[in-house]
Amino acid sequence: MLDWLFSRVLLPAFETGVKRRRTYQYWSELERSQWYSRGELARLQLTALRRLLAHAQTQCPYYRAAWSHLGLDAAQVDSLTAFERWPVISSDAIREHRLRMRTAGTQLLSKSTGGSSGAPLHFDLDHESHERRTAAWHRGYSWAGAIPGVKQLYLWGVPLGQRTAWQRGKDRVYHWLQRRHLLNTFELSAACVGDFCRRLNAYRPRVIVAYTNPLYEFARALQDRGMRPWSPQAIVVGAEKLHAHQRQLIETVFAAPVFETYGCREVMLIGAECPRHEGLHLTQENLLVEILDDEGQPTPPGQEGNVVLTDLYNHGMPFIRYANGDRAIAGWQECSCGRGLPLLRQVTGRRLDVLHTPDGRRLPGEFFPHLCKDYPAIQRFQVEQTEPDRMQFKVVLGPRWSDADQAQLLHEVRQAIGEAMQVDFLPVTDIPLTRAGKHQVVINRCAVRAMDEPAGAAS
Ligand SMILES: [Zn+2]
Repeated sequence: MLDWLFSRVLLPAFETGVKRRRTYQYWSELERSQWYSRGELARLQLTALRRLLAHAQTQCPYYRAAWSHLGLDAAQVDSLTAFERWPVISSDAIREHRLRMRTAGTQLLSKSTGGSSGAPLHFDLDHESHERRTAAWHRGYSWAGAIPGVKQLYLWGVPLGQRTAWQRGKDRVYHWLQRRHLLNTFELSAACVGDFCRRLNAYRPRVIVAYTNPLYEFARALQDRGMRPWSPQAIVVGAEKLHAHQRQLIETVFAAPVFETYGCREVMLIGAECPRHEGLHLTQENLLVEILDDEGQPTPPGQEGNVVLTDLYNHGMPFIRYANGDRAIAGWQECSCGRGLPLLRQVTGRRLDVLHTPDGRRLPGEFFPHLCKDYPAIQRFQVEQTEPDRMQFKVVLGPRWSDADQAQLLHEVRQAIGEAMQVDFLPVTDIPLTRAGKHQVVINRCAVRAMDEPAGAAS
């Protein structure tokens, strides 16, 4: 009854009537279009792509100049094959040319992400895109029953830094309305397992939504202690790669099916599992997802490549053939559920190391990008646990770094990591890439590999 009241009455009224957003309208369109045929969905996608390219070419100085330099004209794109000639851009291009990528005169929302590359990324989107991506998120999560208004427990990173009383109040109302209860994964240590379990059992959510690795650690700790957690109807995991052994253990401990999702802050939900669990259905109406090799050619099915995204509706600041730094295995199968949305076979490369402190805490690597994105003067960083009780925090700093920033940053690190770990804060001029050309953000040199990743486990 409460679920019905919130999800069918209060939330739609709030979104549509109070906030004047079209999220629910877009959502109901997506509920219909997911059942269209592959051909029909591909046709709609190409139409949206052509509209986006024509817009970017006339309205966004960066794209106009880059394409004209290469002799490309948006009008040439009459198929996805023709689009393969378009240049792929990285987050560096967005850092450098953000202002020239935007559409003048459009009201924009600004966002930032720590990203998996280790350097914070600031970008913009327009209101229609925000509403469409929110709708796609609701549609994808609805396959696990996790729609707004249904009682959900979020085992998630909560906003860090200093929130004003007004912001905290707003957060509280927002979560109450969405019927979300939040447990901060950055606080999840061995000592808190019992407390987290009690709070879960008292709240009795229909769905648990969680970062993959903290939930896995939590499940393992519950199993070790023989504790019986509340069993929800479904568990949604995201933000980190899910290994097969993790899914198995989480499903056993919570006696509930796990739904994997994949997204990034730049475009939100990219793919999600339906109840058949045969792969991740892509958000095809809003996104063009390509898997390309390092030369920019489509990767053959079954092989790993770079995830390259085109957001079909962010006309305010178009992302066109944007490589977000993730890796995935190509191959677009169909699902037995009958939805026309193609399946992404597997996401492979997004995992950050977990730090292990001497007092038994497990701090997910995702803590650090999340933390650093609030400090614009940090250009790049790397965290390395070098000894069981010691970590290095290297940063490449811009000109506007202050002592107060440093004190605040270290205070937040200390709160998360506890007193038992020595933190060496090291401003440096550069942070070298790995031999594969990757920037490793969080490295744990002391972790017992076998604990996180059993040898031979399918991933
Ligand atoms: Zn399906």
